Amino acid sequence: MNLILMGLPGAGKGTQAEKIVEKYNIPHISTGDMFRLAIKEGTALGQEAKSYMDKGELVPDEVTIGIVRERLSKPDCQEGFLLDGFPRTIAQADALENLLADMNESVDYVLHIDVPKEQLVERLTGRRVCPTCGATYHVIFNPPKEEGKCDHDGAELIQREDDQPETVKKRLEVNVEQAQPLLDFYQDKGYLVTFDGDRNIDDVFVDIDKKLGGLVK
Ligand SMILES: [Zn+2]
Repeated sequence: MNLILMGLPGAGKGTQAEKIVEKYNIPHISTGDMFRLAIKEGTALGQEAKSYMDKGELVPDEVTIGIVRERLSKPDCQEGFLLDGFPRTIAQADALENLLADMNESVDYVLHIDVPKEQLVERLTGRRVCPTCGATYHVIFNPPKEEGKCDHDGAELIQREDDQPETVKKRLEVNVEQAQPLLDFYQDKGYLVTFDGDRNIDDVFVDIDKKLGGLVK
């Protein structure tokens, strides 16, 4: 099964990815992991990507797509894959279509975990960190025993700059703008399946699992 996972930061993609990978035994392929592997293996494309990254420049699409092609050709992708963080642009999505067609494959589903933006702001701004030991908490989902204090050392918990409401909102907006054309693209292709992600993790997975069950031969 050839899958692409989409969803805004905080929508719970990571957790669903873990569950999908465990149940269906396909690799979870994130863009970062893909680059790291290509660089570690020292492939020509990996070295090229590294030269851009070392300069702090964006890796051009043709290099990225080459790395995706190398990764999807590995034996662990025999039964499929779960792509996460790729494609990011329509140009990349088009290239992926062509690449898969060359391999006599196609995307089965684009799994979109949909959570309202306001909900995500609440999830993402609730994080608190202990400045002393680095322990992380969430005011709703994982609160410390005593409000505002670290369970381990009693230090006053802080909210990181990244987790401040204004920063979070800006980050989400950028992500929405980037994702919308891709969601439209995959909707037109008929691959897009949207799941209500504003529920507990297990309920979301039950629905994903039902959909994927239909793909198992
Ligand atoms: Zn602490």
